[in-house]
Amino acid sequence: MKPLTEADIRSSFVNATPEQLHRLPIPGLHETIWNEREFLGWRDPAAAHLGYIVHWMDDRPTGIVLRAPNGSLRTGISAMCSLCHSSQPATQVKLFTAPRAGEAGRNGNSIGSYICEDLACPLLIRITPPRADQREFIEARSAGLLRRVQNFTADVMRAP
Ligand SMILES: [Zn+2]
Repeated sequence: MKPLTEADIRSSFVNATPEQLHRLPIPGLHETIWNEREFLGWRDPAAAHLGYIVHWMDDRPTGIVLRAPNGSLRTGISAMCSLCHSSQPATQVKLFTAPRAGEAGRNGNSIGSYICEDLACPLLIRITPPRADQREFIEARSAGLLRRVQNFTADVMRAP
């Protein structure tokens, strides 16, 4: 992905409250390997129930705030992340909810999706056992992940 600046990130959120924007934690951008990412995703170290995803959509940085539930899915089963399609132990996938943009979100309307707990899908899709078509394989995963995260954000922005 094209690199994001702190200003890009701060201006990107479509569903954040003024208070959430005010206390938004910015991750360490100088260590980020942008060309191995479809989005920037991070959890809030000071507010365990919050997470953030920012990606480019039509050349605009577009971000969503996600809320995580307190509990986990049942242990001992596996679950699939709806963004990266990785199967993981169920404790590592959470049902995040994204308030819809605008008035709908302020009225409590939100969209839920099972997503990797650490929002690190771009790292996960690049971890594979060696294979002959490694590059094509990861490129296909990357294209799928980008499409799904953009669709999710578009859903958040769409009036219900
Ligand atoms: Zn994932």
